Amino acid sequence: MKYISTRGDRTERRFCEILLEGLAPDGGLYLPTHYPKVDGATLTRWRGLGYAELAFEILSRYIDDIPPADLKALVDKTYTVAAFGDPAIVPLKPVRPAGEGHGALMLEALSNGPTLAFKDMAMQLLGNLFEYELARRGETLNILGATSGDTGSAAEYAMRGKRGIAVFMLSPLGRMSPFQQAQMFSLQDANIHNLAVEGVFDDCQDIVKAVSADLDFKRRHKIGTVNSINWARLLAQVVYYFAGYFQATKTNDERVSFTVPSGNFGNVCAGHVARMMGLPIERLIVATNENDVLDEFFRTGAYRVRGSADTHETSSPSMDISKASNFERFVFDLLGRDTARTADLFGTQVGQGGFTLDAASFARVAGYGFRSGRSSHADRLATIRRVAAESGLIVDPHTADGLKVASEQPGPETMIVLETALPAKFASTLVEALGQEPPRPAGLEGIEALPKRVQTVPASVQVVKDYVAAHAPA
Ligand SMILES: *Cc1c(COP(=O)(O)O)cnc(C)c1O
Repeated sequence: MKYISTRGDRTERRFCEILLEGLAPDGGLYLPTHYPKVDGATLTRWRGLGYAELAFEILSRYIDDIPPADLKALVDKTYTVAAFGDPAIVPLKPVRPAGEGHGALMLEALSNGPTLAFKDMAMQLLGNLFEYELARRGETLNILGATSGDTGSAAEYAMRGKRGIAVFMLSPLGRMSPFQQAQMFSLQDANIHNLAVEGVFDDCQDIVKAVSADLDFKRRHKIGTVNSINWARLLAQVVYYFAGYFQATKTNDERVSFTVPSGNFGNVCAGHVARMMGLPIERLIVATNENDVLDEFFRTGAYRVRGSADTHETSSPSMDISKASNFERFVFDLLGRDTARTADLFGTQVGQGGFTLDAASFARVAGYGFRSGRSSHADRLATIRRVAAESGLIVDPHTADGLKVASEQPGPETMIVLETALPAKFASTLVEALGQEPPRPAGLEGIEALPKRVQTVPASVQVVKDYVAAHAPA
């Protein structure tokens, strides 16, 4: 399998060449030259596999420059009961049985990894892939990132203790939830560096951009990232669409739909890839919060990126985006992989505020299964209450956005809503909805009291550069 850019760079690269990369050199995103098709006999065989075996089968179709035995070992080491708490790794939880006019409604639990959000599903694998590839090359990497919560902790728990890797994670001082701060700052691993920046999330992101734009510094200190446009992260997420489908169905004649709480379009783009491979997915429903740039697109064909003044801070903060960084991948496929048009839309027009698709292209969206909806703070609270009363399940605010949007679009097929975080991460919204603290997984009861390892820094590019230079391994 080879990889190409959405914007016309036709240099064909193999998986390990793009593993440690973000954007392609022309500013586009990497995609495989084609999606390997999976036939009915293969689906039947995969139905009986455990999660790690299934992951190996799917990843093997996209990775041909890691020896199969090594890839198998990496996957086996990643998807364990010890890390994910359940033999199914991503078990389904029934919410409501099938009834008049609607199929069964289920949650797929993607949030039982070490940081209680679905980002662990991909990031845990990425940590092992990075360590493997860096050792093979005899190289080291310093990961620099900015986080408002879920991404930073998932990256740190994936990279902690890994040989050849250090993490420098910027977060806005005092702005993350106490639980999220405790999760990150209690890590005592020498290769994990928490920098609490005196500023807001945008300041953190601007510093990361400025440091990365200094190409000399970047090369000298081997700076890399793990953001959601990384192809390996997206690929790892394809697996749980298959795993959810197999648990929800008895034969390959059945179709299911997925509703996906969405921000940067990484999670639901993995669903698109699974569907392109031939998984019998009826609909992929994109659920947004008040930051509804994607819902607007799927309703109207207009992709209107928001300025920071129009980007709302909501109670499902991991979906608070101004533009969706993985969206270009879907539009590339929608336009028949026309690199010139994709480059014009995303290289030029998005920079000027956005674009409106021509009617013929927009008419094809439904054929890819996509639908959408949006949710508000009041919707989240009402959904958390309703689901608790009806099924006894306590859900987090992002998953509530998904459940709300799914309930508005019933169909005869089974609907699987992806559970993207556990409620323990977002206690204040849960208290607002239910009047009580959310349950906490065993072992995390007292984490706020653990000693913290964090360095407070001013919002200064130079101070961050100096810190990285002083602490990066040689
Ligand atoms: C990151 C995140 C999302 C959004 O996922 P995308 O891949 O950016 O669409 C949704 N919910 C939670 C809890 C997250 O951490």
